[in-house]
Amino acid sequence: MHEYSIVQTLIGCVEKETREARAQGAVVRRVNLRMGALCGVESELLRLAFETFRERSVCAEAELHISHVDAKWACRSCGLEIVRGPLQCSQCGSPGKLLHGDEMILERIELDVTEATDV
Ligand SMILES: [Zn+2]
Repeated sequence: MHEYSIVQTLIGCVEKETREARAQGAVVRRVNLRMGALCGVESELLRLAFETFRERSVCAEAELHISHVDAKWACRSCGLEIVRGPLQCSQCGSPGKLLHGDEMILERIELDVTEATDV
């Protein structure tokens, strides 16, 4: 399944990003993912895949937080934002281009370092 390989990649990223911190005793508590409305990934399936794969991974104690971003379009020539369809600029008539909405970004990883920094 598409979502499974995404989650494997995601966990791989978290693993790499947090390697040093985890060596100091930090624990990954939360993973924030930003998902565009047009990225082609089903967030419920992604959650399910995350639940399946996080066991025995660096994300074993992490919760997955997904924030959704609406698709946004703008005029290809003058840059005017296109609020609703048709996807054509109301000012100059040029076709719209997608500004964002098809992305999936690993936005933030939250670590618990309280034990490591306790005085
Ligand atoms: Zn325009």
